[in-house]
Amino acid sequence: MRLILLGPPGAGKGTQAERLVAKYQIPQISTGDILRAAVRDGTDLGKTAKSYMDSGGLVPDAVVIGIIEERLKEDDCANGYILDGFPRTVAQADALKNVLAGMGQAIDHVVSVEVPNEDLVERLSGRRSCKCGAMYHVTFNPPKKEGVCDKCGGELFQRADDQEETIRSRLAVYEEQTAPLIAYYEKAGLLRRIDGVGSLDEIFGRIVEAIGG
Ligand code: ADP
Ligand code: ADP
Ligand code: ZN
Repeated sequence: MRLILLGPPGAGKGTQAERLVAKYQIPQISTGDILRAAVRDGTDLGKTAKSYMDSGGLVPDAVVIGIIEERLKEDDCANGYILDGFPRTVAQADALKNVLAGMGQAIDHVVSVEVPNEDLVERLSGRRSCKCGAMYHVTFNPPKKEGVCDKCGGELFQRADDQEETIRSRLAVYEEQTAPLIAYYEKAGLLRRIDGVGSLDEIFGRIVEAIGG
C-alpha cells in the first residue's frame, strides 16, 4: 500500500505513521526526519536546509524531490510506504506522480487529517520528540517517565521550530502552499478525509477504516 498522510503541522501524521508502520509493515518516509538528520550530521543537504527549517519556511522543491526520488528506489519500499510531510506543494505532488509513473507505481490513498488551528498550536508547543522517531506530548501523550522515551530510553527534546512564533509561520505556510493539495487529490479521487480530533486509538481506527482495513 502506498499512502500519503496529508495535514497541517501537528495534525498527528508522525504519531499515526508510527502505528501504521507496525500494522502494515511498510516504512514511514518523513522528509522532515530526513532533513533534521542531515542538519544534525552537518551534511551539504543539512547546510542548505537549516535556514529554511529554522524560519518555518519550506525547503526548495528541487531539494526535497531529489531526496524522495532516491528514497523510493530503496528495497524496503517495494511493498509500499507511508509518505509523511511530502508532498507539501503542487510542484512536489506533480513530481511525485511522474517519479511513480516511471516506476510503474501509483498512490493508493491520500489521508487528510483535519484538526482546528487552536488545537495545532497546543499540540506543537507541547510536543516532545525522540531521536528514534517516537513522538510524545507533555499532556496528551506523556511518556511513562518524564523526559525519557518509552521505546528506547533516549532523552526527549523539543524541536527548535516548535516555538509559538515559528509555529504560526508554519501554519501560514501550510495554508498557502500545502492546503491546495486537498483539492488536488480530491480531483484525483484519492482523498480520504479524517477527523483528527480524538484519542490516538480513535484516529488510528478512522484511518484504517478509510483505507479499507
Ligand atoms: P511538521 O509535520 O511538524 O510540520 P516536518 O517534520 O514535516 O514538521 O517538517 C519540518 C520542516 O522541514 C518544515 O517546516 C520544512 O522546513 C521542512 N520540510 C519537511 N518536509 C518538507 C517538504 N516536503 N518540502 C519542503 N520542506 C519540507
Ligand atoms: P505531525 O507529524 O502531523 O506534525 P505529530 O504526530 O508530531 O504531528 O503530533 C503533534 C503533537 O500532537 C505531538 O506532541 C503528539 O504527541 C500530539 N498528538 C498527536 N495526536 C494527538 C491527538 N489525537 N490528540 C492530542 N494530541 C495529539
Ligand atoms: Zn526513543
